[in-house]
This record gives sequence, structure tokens and C-alpha cells, in this order.
Amino acid sequence: MDFFFCLPVLFGCKTTVKPEGDQNPRVCPRCNNAAVIGAKTRNWFEICFVPLVPLSSKHIWTCTICNWQSPRGNGLWEPALPGFAPPPPAGYQPPGWQPAQYQQTPPGPSPYPSQYPPNNYYPPK
Ligand SMILES: [Zn+2]
Repeated sequence: MDFFFCLPVLFGCKTTVKPEGDQNPRVCPRCNNAAVIGAKTRNWFEICFVPLVPLSSKHIWTCTICNWQSPRGNGLWEPALPGFAPPPPAGYQPPGWQPAQYQQTPPGPSPYPSQYPPNNYYPPK
């Protein structure tokens, strides 16, 4: 009779994120904090929680606060530097990007009473 060892071997994949490249904080399009940094993600094939085999890697922007991520590379959209926030080019929206909600201010009370001065008011003769 063969001995059969049943070892609990756990396989899995794990993604590591390392800061990389431009470390000037950028403005996050999701949470609007200047907490977006350049980073590199790498997928690892791991056995028993030990990363053994490096799989694919990606260059990304990642927000250290809300974990927003976007692909990073030459020619790709990049998050704005603080204090300078142009809208992303039309036709491309990073994941999670929402157009800013500009509330239209209702026509409030004007500084002048609307009845004053009455344009077509002439004193009766
Ligand atoms: Zn964020």
C-alpha cells in the first residue's frame, strides 16, 4: 500500500505594487487628493504564500488614499499636478473618473429689486 501524503499546498496569485518613476504626487481624479504616484504592479504566482514566479507587470498610476489606478505610459493620460488641473482629454476617461458635477446656480436674488428701476415706468401725466 502506498503512502499518500496529502499536503495542503496553496497556489495563488498575488499582486505587488512598488513605487516607481515620478514620485511627485499628482491629483487623484477620484478623491481629489494629491496622492497619486507612479508605480509598478507585478503579478506573482505564489505557492504557500511565497511569491515564486513573476508574471506580468504593469506601469500604473495609483492613489495611495483610495487605491484608484490607471495605466501609465508615454502618450497616455496622466493625472494633473497639484494646482494645475486641466480636464482629461475628451474621449478618454480613466477608470472611476467622473465628470465634475457643476451645479448650476439658480438665478438668485439680484442685487437690485427686480421691480426697480422699472424700465417702462413713466410717471402718469
Ligand atoms: Zn484617490
